Amino acid sequence: MSESKDFLRTIVEADLKSGKYKKIITRFPPEPNGFPHIGHAKSIFINFGIARDYNGHCNLRMDDTNPTKEDTKYVEALKDAVQWLGFEWKDNLYFTSDYFPKIYDYAITLIKMGKAYVDSLTEEEIREYRGTVKEAGKRSIYANRSVEENLYLLERMKKGEFKDGEHVLRAKIDMSAANMKMRDPLLYRIRHANHFRSADEWCIYPMYDFAHCLSDYIEGVSHSICTLEFENNRDIYNWVLDTLELKPPRPYQHEFARLGINYTVMSKRKLIELVEGGQVKGWDDPRMPTIAGYRRRGYTPSSILNFCEQIGIAKANSMVDVAQLEFCIRDDLNKKVPRVLCVLDPLKVSITNYEGFEEIDAPYYPHDVPKEGSRKIPFSKEIYIERDDFMENPPKGYFRLTPTQPVRLRHGFIISCKEIIKDENGKIIEIKAEYYPDSKSGSDTSGIKVKSAIQWVCAKEAKTVEVRLYDRLFKVEAPEGIEDINPNSLQIIKNALIEPAVINQKPDERFQFERQGYFYADPIDYTDETPVFNKIVGLKDSWGKKTKEDESPAKPKAQTKQVQVVGEVEPMNEEQKKFFNKYTEELGLNSEVANILAHDERLCCFYEESLTILDISVNPIALANIVVNEVARELKEKQVEELKFSAKQIVELVKMLEDETISNKIAKEVFEKMLKTGESPKQIVEASGLVQISDPSIILPIIDEVITQNPDNVIKFKAGNTKLLGFFVGQVLKKTAGKANPKIVNELVATKLK
Ligand code: ATP
Ligand code: MG
Repeated sequence: MSESKDFLRTIVEADLKSGKYKKIITRFPPEPNGFPHIGHAKSIFINFGIARDYNGHCNLRMDDTNPTKEDTKYVEALKDAVQWLGFEWKDNLYFTSDYFPKIYDYAITLIKMGKAYVDSLTEEEIREYRGTVKEAGKRSIYANRSVEENLYLLERMKKGEFKDGEHVLRAKIDMSAANMKMRDPLLYRIRHANHFRSADEWCIYPMYDFAHCLSDYIEGVSHSICTLEFENNRDIYNWVLDTLELKPPRPYQHEFARLGINYTVMSKRKLIELVEGGQVKGWDDPRMPTIAGYRRRGYTPSSILNFCEQIGIAKANSMVDVAQLEFCIRDDLNKKVPRVLCVLDPLKVSITNYEGFEEIDAPYYPHDVPKEGSRKIPFSKEIYIERDDFMENPPKGYFRLTPTQPVRLRHGFIISCKEIIKDENGKIIEIKAEYYPDSKSGSDTSGIKVKSAIQWVCAKEAKTVEVRLYDRLFKVEAPEGIEDINPNSLQIIKNALIEPAVINQKPDERFQFERQGYFYADPIDYTDETPVFNKIVGLKDSWGKKTKEDESPAKPKAQTKQVQVVGEVEPMNEEQKKFFNKYTEELGLNSEVANILAHDERLCCFYEESLTILDISVNPIALANIVVNEVARELKEKQVEELKFSAKQIVELVKMLEDETISNKIAKEVFEKMLKTGESPKQIVEASGLVQISDPSIILPIIDEVITQNPDNVIKFKAGNTKLLGFFVGQVLKKTAGKANPKIVNELVATKLK
């Protein structure tokens, strides 16, 4: 169990201590209407994890109350995902549909208590009668039906005597409740549809709010853990269980923050669109954020569990950087998988002074010497290297093979270029080179200095393989859907060359192709004739640093470093590890940020200094983010003494951000000014009136103005194009020059347009 307890485990422990429950029973209750995604992994990790930690059990419950969208294939996918992540439900696999008879009986009880009625308003009328946040709703005239009439109608609904939508069963609670969900919520609706398990036995189906709490109760669940968007449903949950006066103990609902990841869509509805629209090749396409997708791509269960552990459990929604998930898989594989040589874009090299054939012994785990395992790499006169590991006219700082610069063949000899052969179009098709017989790796007495070692394969012995390079499926941070797809998310290389041991000895399924990244033998398409490898992840985060080494030859210092780290995450020394642990464990930084800080001495000092002046109102995570982004950018070019701002001022800036005096956007502006003038952020904000506007009485008139100016969009929005919400919010922010608090604007616009 992790050392620091999260708020859910704190609750569970208190409930055990007080004797409220003897046994902890949780449940993971997906609707089988799609493949589970990484958000579900978080929920699985929490529910099964808590049950395991407190010697209880977790039920796997298919929440199958919507016959039109559900299917057995999704049930199987859910079971697979839970198992693959390493959890067991043992005998506890349940289906809400199995409880339909019991749930129906509870509905009858409520009617008899005068707490439920059959309503015959149309869907539209029901919506109208519900009122708004500001106005109370009004109760349906049908709410006065007698108990007998209600029982009679419900019975007939069940028998299939009415059409879809003709009647519904509603709880009689309070049409003026502040919580809109409590305004006589629907308990049952008519659906003439075939259910994948109960077939045509039922034509009325219980609503989530009625079925869920009762299913929890029926199963003896103690802690019903769900995501934050169900916060308002908690009142109904309690109302149903309390009103029915069920025998204790009864379950209680607790909410945690849903996982969101940037560059990723994460609702089954959107994922179905991708699958059905053919944007990806099925639910297990390696670009999909589904468990099946990660699995096919080559992610390990432990990397996903580590990720869930790292992001923790919070009560406020936030967006996690996809780089953190990538870090977790890289971190896992870095320690485990063999390193081999593969050339993706081969360029022929003939070694003119070599005759014959030899095999070079090379370890699979050169970074981890005690770990045994090696193979023979064949070497002969003709080899292939990576096309971009040779440059005829290299920029400064290019460390690989050039007409005047020798290079080492990884695990092998040093070679130098003697002649370049081109085709009629001027394209280089071959290099004639010479090798140095006394330069063999491990016994090099040649005295020749090289700046890097490159991958290569022996022409005669190499195997042709297909390599699938995956990039992020979406090109924007907060993708909406298909329109944001990255057109280059898949690149297929048909003729990559790999050293023969990978195919003949199959030392593993996952590999590091040195200098390229981590790869996985595709579990479905791999055959002996055509071996296929999926790229799992690159060697380091390259997103956002799209410019390649070769295109920006400046800064030789950074280059040296790049050569050193090629192939591995730089190991940390003891001191750095101490900082890393402190940041992740005590301060809750994500490992990517902690990693940057721990590795960079100057950033680390700066962060440490600011921590000493921190008071409890300031969040160390927000502070760390500014340090690794904004401050780091400055420190690339300057020394600490040259900075115009101090650690104290950065803390001040974070404080204003945290108490919402200023918005993120303004914080950036303030920071820019701090760089130039050295003034304190307080001074800057006060002098330029940059304070964030949160007062609705200032914001509302601006919203009105935007609404009047865009009548067409208002009509579209009301007709259901809810994406336009962003448009309206954007317009309002623009009119306030980014000073309005976006969260408040969002809420106000949403209410206005309702
Ligand atoms: P989606 O919107 O993607 O369809 P959902 O919430 O409708 O998701 P369910 O199958 O009903 O999906 O969810 C099963 C469980 O997984 C629920 O308890 C839900 O709260 C949880 N869950 C779903 N998405 C996430 C997420 N992004 N982060 C954490 N938990 C999630
Ligand atoms: Mg859903």
